[in-house]
Amino acid sequence: MPPVSFADSAPFDGDALRDAALRYPRPSRLALPLRVDGAKAEHGASVLGLHTVGDLLEHLPRDRRDARAIGDLVAGETATVVVEVKSIASRSVRRRGMRPLVEATVADATGAMKVAFFNQPWLVQRYPVGTRLMLHGKYQSRSRFGVQGHAPTGEAATGSDAVAHYPATEGLSSTQILALVQREAARFGDVVEPLPVALRLHERLPDRPGALRAAHFPASEADVEAARRRLAFDELLLVQLALLRRRRRRRAGARAPVLDDQRSLTSRWLSDMLPFPLTRDQTLALEAVDEDIAQAVPMQRLLMGEVGSGKTVIALYAMLRAVEHDMQGAMMAPTETLAEQHFATIQALMPGELVRAGLLTGSTPARRRADLLAKLASGELSLVVGTHALIEDAVGFARLGVAVVDEQHRFGVRQRAALDAKGYGGESPHVLHMTATPIPRTLALSNYGDLDFTVLRELPRGRQPIETFVCSTDRERARAYDRIREELRAGRQAFVVCPLVEESEALQARAATAEFERLRTGELAGWEVVLLHGQMRPAAKQAAMASFAAGEAHVLVATSVIEVGIDVPNATVMLVENAERYGISQLHQLRGRIGRGAHASLCLLFGPKDSPRLRALAADSDGFALAEVDLGLRGEGELIGTRQHGIAQYRVAELPRDAELLERARLHADRIIDCDPDLEDPDHELLADALTRIYGAEAAAPIRA
Ligand code: ADP
Ligand code: MG
Repeated sequence: MPPVSFADSAPFDGDALRDAALRYPRPSRLALPLRVDGAKAEHGASVLGLHTVGDLLEHLPRDRRDARAIGDLVAGETATVVVEVKSIASRSVRRRGMRPLVEATVADATGAMKVAFFNQPWLVQRYPVGTRLMLHGKYQSRSRFGVQGHAPTGEAATGSDAVAHYPATEGLSSTQILALVQREAARFGDVVEPLPVALRLHERLPDRPGALRAAHFPASEADVEAARRRLAFDELLLVQLALLRRRRRRRAGARAPVLDDQRSLTSRWLSDMLPFPLTRDQTLALEAVDEDIAQAVPMQRLLMGEVGSGKTVIALYAMLRAVEHDMQGAMMAPTETLAEQHFATIQALMPGELVRAGLLTGSTPARRRADLLAKLASGELSLVVGTHALIEDAVGFARLGVAVVDEQHRFGVRQRAALDAKGYGGESPHVLHMTATPIPRTLALSNYGDLDFTVLRELPRGRQPIETFVCSTDRERARAYDRIREELRAGRQAFVVCPLVEESEALQARAATAEFERLRTGELAGWEVVLLHGQMRPAAKQAAMASFAAGEAHVLVATSVIEVGIDVPNATVMLVENAERYGISQLHQLRGRIGRGAHASLCLLFGPKDSPRLRALAADSDGFALAEVDLGLRGEGELIGTRQHGIAQYRVAELPRDAELLERARLHADRIIDCDPDLEDPDHELLADALTRIYGAEAAAPIRA
């Protein structure tokens, strides 16, 4: 027994110190293969990745479940017991195809009961009279126990009123895993403490061997949380170390052009041509970009801002900074539509063609493409916007200085590396990444911790406020159509969004069609109503969009396909049916289709008044604030729109619950990498080992663009 209980900060007294057990950890014993009895169990262990003793100790319980003595069992309850086999025999079953049934009487100091094992005739040999067993199952009346998991054990009793419940698999039950962990419990003493002593003292963290033991065998409820936090800290620290070390190595390994003297072009553009004043966030972003590109190491900045927040201005600025240094700028978007939109925005932002720009996508005609490639190679063309077509081998730049990658998570590492390789004279371009998905800071740190971030929170002036209401009753529905008709009479337009039907596009299309027919002949009779859903032919879709965009159609009844791409500033009302079926970020994006013109807008969400998501939307219009709410409500793994960002999935840490722990881990990781970038200090050697164990050699490789 350890001399003080786990995570107890009381000082040792003299007696406790004298009685303390000496530890002689031998981590090599954790690498020994895990011994498991039986082919099925062995297979189960390998499915779970439990190859060594160390793997087993790191296989953490999912939660806890009840443990009892036989005498305390209540009919109907499910629990774990430790018993001794008093008699055991097999009995043939009359039904054909069934293997003999094994029946046993088992007992502990408080009572006895009968148990039956199905389909495992070999247990008669494996569990002879006198064997101690750990059983998990349901206690029925009349001293019968329905076994769900069983394993031989060296323990005399469960020793507690709850035991660990493990992620298990076919062939290896939680009960078997528990028995294995109990068998190997002495090996907790061989677990390495990776944290430097100073850090551990500073953060008042319990030791890792103790934390791991307490995660499996807590002495109290408080132990469970203290152990979890310690293990979560390690996990968060290692992720941050890996990210910061990667960033460090990338910086050390790559050079970029220093862009810090010329300003002729951008200052003229900013003062004379930009058709609006910059928002404060935009100004800050420009300053951050300026600072980055003045360095001889490539910029690696992530610009986050919702659709319409004005990211393209920043992107264009960064590219123009390259142009005024006689270099080129390129912007890569994941789809042709996006590339075309960026191209149009860029042209509008530079009235009078300040600098000529080209558009290169998969559908650029061959003649035009050849012309563009020649001009990019000669340097005659300074700016290009495009898709993946930009990174094909055939595309060569005379002097690429700045690259902008939009929605970077939609490009693979190799594609980004290909862009990086298009730099000039052995130098890499400065890279500005952009994303429109609002990501809470905690998740951004987890996932993009190797980038610098800038956020555009403020929407450009001129954006109209959107009032959002949750509607539930028939009266509210009637009032909603009144409001829509008022807006239509005032010359505005409206969206009606039909419920999300996850199971089938066809069902969703049918529901939208029915609603379209209903409104056209009912509440919105007399107005021009058009339909838009994913199953329509492209030409029909385009016709519907075009007539709505031109103001000929007053109402667009649509499925969630309008989430992207429609820009109709005259639309001022949106009604969403069964809004509770949509996620927060989806609703937020949908709502972004209104409030784009000169008029105040109205969003009517039909759904239960007590839905926390709908309430959040009614209360908040800032996408980042909503993303935090979403994270709080759903937990990290579920966050819509971030899963495809490849957010680090933690085993122990939970966000946003551990946000503060993450910030502290980030701080320590920063300090460690600052003074010892390669983790060569003897104090950091065990951290370096842990990193290699988890991430392998990949952790050391620099991330490209
Ligand atoms: P994003 O790329 O972030 O979706 P854009 O850069 O395309 O946003 O900007 C959306 C629209 O807002 C564009 O038409 C742009 O010209 C305009 N815009 C950008 N910044 C401002 C600003 N500071 N003031 C007014 N309008 C702006
Ligand atoms: Mg844009």
